[in-house]
Amino acid sequence: METNKIEQLINSINISRETGCWVWQKGKSRNGYGLVTDKAGTTFLAHRYAYEIFRGPIPEGAYLLHSPSCVSKACINPSHLRCGDQKENMADRRAAGRYDNQPARGKALTIAERKAIFRALDGGQTAYSIAQSGVLGRRVSEPQISYLKKHRAAIEARDAKRKRKTVISILAPLQQALAESVDELCSLANAA
Ligand SMILES: [Zn+2]
Repeated sequence: METNKIEQLINSINISRETGCWVWQKGKSRNGYGLVTDKAGTTFLAHRYAYEIFRGPIPEGAYLLHSPSCVSKACINPSHLRCGDQKENMADRRAAGRYDNQPARGKALTIAERKAIFRALDGGQTAYSIAQSGVLGRRVSEPQISYLKKHRAAIEARDAKRKRKTVISILAPLQQALAESVDELCSLANAA
């Protein structure tokens, strides 16, 4: 029965609504991976631990890789993880390095940042004044805001769709784990 383990994991994460990442909040390894200690006192890498609970055993010798869209090494969302070999691991690291080296202004706005911009526009602020004050602590350029304003309907529709997808990606592995727990309970009850 994995329910206690699942509970322990759920209590140790913060789920990002933007990215769907399950970001580990407890102890971390020196290179940023979550660490979890089981009842017997053994410590594991949290993302590997979570993957095995929700998805099943990791083949021996396999690397567990974060998907390119995942933003944190501390993320343990099983749907952001996949098994791979060393070659894929290296390729992922190179890609991550490129991403990390991008200047902040080159990164796409988050859904929350776009929302804050739309709210500011609705509040009567101009693109210029929003660019001056920044959004959620981040600098945004005036042309960027004008672009959002011009394509607002399409952008908002796309964001709503993304948000739904994020919620589904968060719930799906939980649902599966619950279904398995229920199956297990039923078979225990039937055996009794
Ligand atoms: Zn993630």
